[in-house]
Amino acid sequence: MNTVNTAPQTRFDGRALINGQRTASVSGETFDCISPVDGRTLTTVARCAEADVDAAVAAARAAFEDRRWRGLAPAQRKRIMIRFADLLQANGDELALTETLDMGKPVKYARAVDVNSAANCIRWYGEAVDKIYDEIAPTASTALALITREPVGVVGVIVPWNYPMIMAAWKIAPALAAGNSVVLKPSEKSPLTALRMADLALEAGIPTGVFNVVTGYGAEAGSPLALHMDVDCIAFTGSTRVGKQIHQMAGQSNLKRAWTELGGKSPNIVFADCPDLDKAVAAAVGSIFFNQGESCNAPSRLFVEAGIKERFLEKALALVPGYAPGNPLDQATVMGAIVDKTQMNSVLRYIESGKSEGAKLLAGGEQALIETGGCYVQPTIFDGVRNDMTIAREEIFGPVLSVLSFTDAADVVRQANQSVYGLQAAVWTRDINKAHGVARALRAGTVHVNQYDEDDITVPFGGYKQSGVGRDKSLHAFDKYTETKTTWIRIDSPV
Ligand code: NAD
Repeated sequence: MNTVNTAPQTRFDGRALINGQRTASVSGETFDCISPVDGRTLTTVARCAEADVDAAVAAARAAFEDRRWRGLAPAQRKRIMIRFADLLQANGDELALTETLDMGKPVKYARAVDVNSAANCIRWYGEAVDKIYDEIAPTASTALALITREPVGVVGVIVPWNYPMIMAAWKIAPALAAGNSVVLKPSEKSPLTALRMADLALEAGIPTGVFNVVTGYGAEAGSPLALHMDVDCIAFTGSTRVGKQIHQMAGQSNLKRAWTELGGKSPNIVFADCPDLDKAVAAAVGSIFFNQGESCNAPSRLFVEAGIKERFLEKALALVPGYAPGNPLDQATVMGAIVDKTQMNSVLRYIESGKSEGAKLLAGGEQALIETGGCYVQPTIFDGVRNDMTIAREEIFGPVLSVLSFTDAADVVRQANQSVYGLQAAVWTRDINKAHGVARALRAGTVHVNQYDEDDITVPFGGYKQSGVGRDKSLHAFDKYTETKTTWIRIDSPV
């Protein structure tokens, strides 16, 4: 597909999807959906608020109560979810193009990564539906204790804009597979693919009212969902700042289950005995610049052992020109646009703070492609960063790498753990004792050894500390969307 030429003709429907119908907001208000690629307005989007959330929750509740979804045989729910995944794939080019125009990521990654992993996630949980058994506890013979899983009910899902389809899929797939109804609120910065996903879910046969999408701003559409007295669970991915509010809102309303996947400032630790320096350099640079640095798990703090730092940085700088931002609709582009002007300006402010706090700018540091009207930032590397500098402490969520140094394992573990976050980490060494010892000492939900890019739906994803509560992906995700029930049955055996 020639995406650069197709893009201008593309039309989008920005209405919410409630109870199986595309619908304007109750107030009739909309907001503009602006592309960071070139500043054009793609469409207007329904500006949902409390009344729309009420309608979506009521539809979801009605669907849950009459069992139109959870009452289906597991094999049938499985077939429908697999059809849903197939439809995501069949419409993959359109979804990828939409994602790129809406949030700026290179279209080749939107297709190869975002569409494929969202579809794979829906398929994987769909396939799990008729393969999970409940339990019988090893109690005394005078009783039978059944331990069963039941769907929690209505699940509210709030997601960010960096991987809109994947973040939504990680939550809606296990929630739907477990038999729940869902109300999804996508980010106001990237609402379009969530709406298309819900269209395709309906087409696949997921019954009306089971999967609803309310579009709008966090304070107007997200808060009413998190505060709703008839929502049983809220699953959130986004910033730590808003994540804390989500837990508060859950507590101040009906004590709904609250699960949060939040920010990160992941340390990437390269020891002098790293088995393959070129590979470590490529991973350090590629992982921070992938998705324009807008990845929660981006290894944004690079710790290089003092003895090899100069050689490492020389190799890293040689790779930087390969990440020059370009038109994300062009299949050759590897770094696209930052999601919007607000985020771009925030990244540029962090770069200024790095300079003013004394870090040494080695590459980038400026806005790029200004003439396009879009939002682009040069790939940026700072050396001489200390852990107490703002660019080492706060999540920048842009293409900015902070390079720090260390002397030994104890020193780097102390520095790496000196963060409010604990999402991911990496260790590069050929010493198996050092690899295991450091991996164990790092306070992070995932630790990579001698690589940074392994990823699979079968493994849990989530963070320690202020990187969130709970885990997405893998069978562990079902813990978030199911209640555990014990049923005691008395057995007075006649024999
Ligand atoms: P954000 O917290 O600003 O917004 C996330 C979502 O919350 C959006 O849909 C937004 O509309 C909504 N929201 C905002 N204020 C709200 C409120 N008061 N009540 C209810 N909802 C509200 O985050 P963002 O800028 O969209 O995303 C970037 C953040 O997401 C980064 O911190 C990143 O690390 C994090 N993230 C984490 C993971 C993970 O798995 N740990 C994955 C991706 C992104």
